[in-house]
Amino acid sequence: EKAVWEQLKDQPTVSKDGQSFMLAANIGTPADLPAVLKSGAEGIGLFRSEFLYMDSDQLPSEETQFKAYKAAVEQMDGKPVVIRTMDIGGDKDLPYMKLPKEMNPFLGYRAIRISLKRQDIFRTQLRALIRASAFGDLGIMFPMIATLEELRQAKTIFNEEKTKLVEAGVKVGEKIKLGMMIEIPNAAIFADHFAKEVDFFSIGTNDLIQYTFAADRGNERVSYLYQPYHPSLLGLINHVIKAAHRHGTSVAMCGEMAGDQTAVPLLMGMGLDEFSMSATSVLKTRNLMKHLDASTLTDLAEAAINDCESSDQVKALVEKLKTSQ
Ligand code: PEP
Ligand code: MG
Repeated sequence: EKAVWEQLKDQPTVSKDGQSFMLAANIGTPADLPAVLKSGAEGIGLFRSEFLYMDSDQLPSEETQFKAYKAAVEQMDGKPVVIRTMDIGGDKDLPYMKLPKEMNPFLGYRAIRISLKRQDIFRTQLRALIRASAFGDLGIMFPMIATLEELRQAKTIFNEEKTKLVEAGVKVGEKIKLGMMIEIPNAAIFADHFAKEVDFFSIGTNDLIQYTFAADRGNERVSYLYQPYHPSLLGLINHVIKAAHRHGTSVAMCGEMAGDQTAVPLLMGMGLDEFSMSATSVLKTRNLMKHLDASTLTDLAEAAINDCESSDQVKALVEKLKTSQ
């Protein structure tokens, strides 16, 4: 089957009945770029910028960051690249920042919460990103947004830095897309309001599932609660997608679920626009999509959300459809 996938490398991502989707890759460092270029991905849906902060014993300079971001957009050669501002905190500690020890790190001082407080760090990162935008198709997204106020504050700071750079005569991209992660239940529930204020959403299911079920994503003892196929979680994701589309906002998913072969048919049925996954899953997913009739998947997703009571029931429904197509 590998050989069959190989032929799909340069082909567009379309379902059996001709509906288009976009398949992108997730990366952690620019060292992952060669694998992405070979993977058949149509872009990068999540560039986790944490490595710049973690592979160092001090905060990375604007120049160091600029070089890494520029390399990514240049090597992708005009294909879209979405870079996420830093998501430090939670389980990712930075010894040199002396972050406070917390009882509940996943519910604590993390990601955009740090960026809005430590604006020196945030502004440095945004300047590097805005400068890199001149060299390709760059999107910037904010992690762990919970409220509109956070989003607006982040956007204001972005606009201030961009204006300063433009006034200083620095070349910047004509249209830098701004987006946010949907990975906190409150952001998902409030999606209609957020959708009016961003160019795109990217659903981070790794955290969204953890927070929806109150089950630590890395704790084996409670892993039975970590349920990507649960009807209520699917309903929440569907709500996010429909809310976004009502406002002309596109929706990507960059959590592990986007490359999960059971979840993909359900997500296609909900109308998810972009699936961002590990580079090694791209061709397998393109092949799966090619064999599915997208028009029948709307009913599949609806049945999963409305008629099922458990993850097992949803799974059985998807398996039945897959064997029939
Ligand atoms: C997510 O939460 O789904 C996500 C993509 O972000 P991370 O895994 O980096 O927390
Ligand atoms: Mg996350």
